[in-house]
Amino acid sequence: MTTVGKVITCKAAVAWEPGKPLCIEEVEVAPPKAHEVRIKVVATGVCHTDWEYLFETGKGMKFRPFPLVLGHEAAGIVESTGPEVTRFSPGDKVIPLFLPYCGECERCLSPKTNHCKKNWTNMQAGVLADGTSRISCKGQQVYQFLGVSSFSQYTVVPDTSVAKIRSDAPLDKVCLLGCGVSTGYGAAINAGKVEKDSSCAVFGLGAVGLAAVMGCKVAMARRIIGVDINPDKFEKARQFGATDCINPRDYSKPIQEVVVEKTGGGVDYALECVGSPAIMNAAFESTRDAWGTCIIAGWTETEVMSISVEKLLMGRTLKGTYFGGWKSVKDVPKLVDDYMNHKLKLDEFITEKLPLVQINKAFDLLKSGKSIRTVVSLQDS
Ligand code: NAD
Ligand code: ZN
Ligand code: ZN
Repeated sequence: MTTVGKVITCKAAVAWEPGKPLCIEEVEVAPPKAHEVRIKVVATGVCHTDWEYLFETGKGMKFRPFPLVLGHEAAGIVESTGPEVTRFSPGDKVIPLFLPYCGECERCLSPKTNHCKKNWTNMQAGVLADGTSRISCKGQQVYQFLGVSSFSQYTVVPDTSVAKIRSDAPLDKVCLLGCGVSTGYGAAINAGKVEKDSSCAVFGLGAVGLAAVMGCKVAMARRIIGVDINPDKFEKARQFGATDCINPRDYSKPIQEVVVEKTGGGVDYALECVGSPAIMNAAFESTRDAWGTCIIAGWTETEVMSISVEKLLMGRTLKGTYFGGWKSVKDVPKLVDDYMNHKLKLDEFITEKLPLVQINKAFDLLKSGKSIRTVVSLQDS
């Protein structure tokens, strides 16, 4: 029996209010409207940003309306398409994306940025182009996190925020390209433009940080220093290419002084993958004067970073990156190819697989530092 054009009733993890665990609920997912695609979500990663929106909203994160379905690092299969959708058909394997790529605007046409603003304001507010969400629960509208909401068995996203990927891609692996791995890898490759034989320091060795280490290694950096307060992360970081791993808690002086000493003046590239202004400053101060570059990938929306103007004047560069600089819809299929061609690791990031009903455990594992990425399967019970 076809579901095309009908409301689909399915399971989703609903965040009813900030600071409370997610609840598995039956939700209604409306058919896609013009330029929208309804996706059967097969697998989703659980990213630090999901946790932050749930537990830090109104603190490090701006307030967003609840109830909400979180999740933005996923892969699935097109179930149906709305009017005027030309690039997708039912059965296509896809990765929904929190960053759009319309392919037509000034920003999409410029090689300088990946910040397409198509539907931006609405997606940030948790709704689609017409100002409403396609998900409801108990008669109430449920907002769509960054316009994606992958903690639901079905979701509807704008066609400018969906990457069509090759049919042989394993969805339970390539879902990680929807956020964390692409972000960290691109932070090194695109934003940092890390060079051969350079020295690098990566602050925070979660999925984003390990992917940054992977990017530095692919760029053939000579030295890659991993920095984390959780030494359990070091073994994996070394597997990804870190040459040294240091724990700020092992030193009485600030970690930037340790990095500067270890490298005889500072690293060529420092990448912040934690999301804390204090660590952003430490990363910046770890870079060498004259040409050191600091890339901020960690996410905070309300906090302010302070830096020494003198250190900036001495020739350092400070840059931020959103989704690793990748032009989402256009570049993600190429990253899938790189994974399929063994140029990019994904399996090594996955430390746990859980069904949707155990999604709160995925948050616990992330916060306690026991997991890198948990992949949640949406269609298994
Ligand atoms: P994670 O929680 O898996 O990893 C964070 C790591 O930082 C952990 O290993 C933790 O031990 C370490 N850490 C905490 N405090 C530290 C300190 N004082 N010094 C050194 N290390 C410390 O998170 P993740 O999913 O890898 O995400 C990392 C950051 O990237 C988050 O802020 C997330 O919101 C952000 N992010 C940004 C983008 C983007 O587009 N820019 C995309 C995805 C995620
Ligand atoms: Zn994310
Ligand atoms: Zn655009």
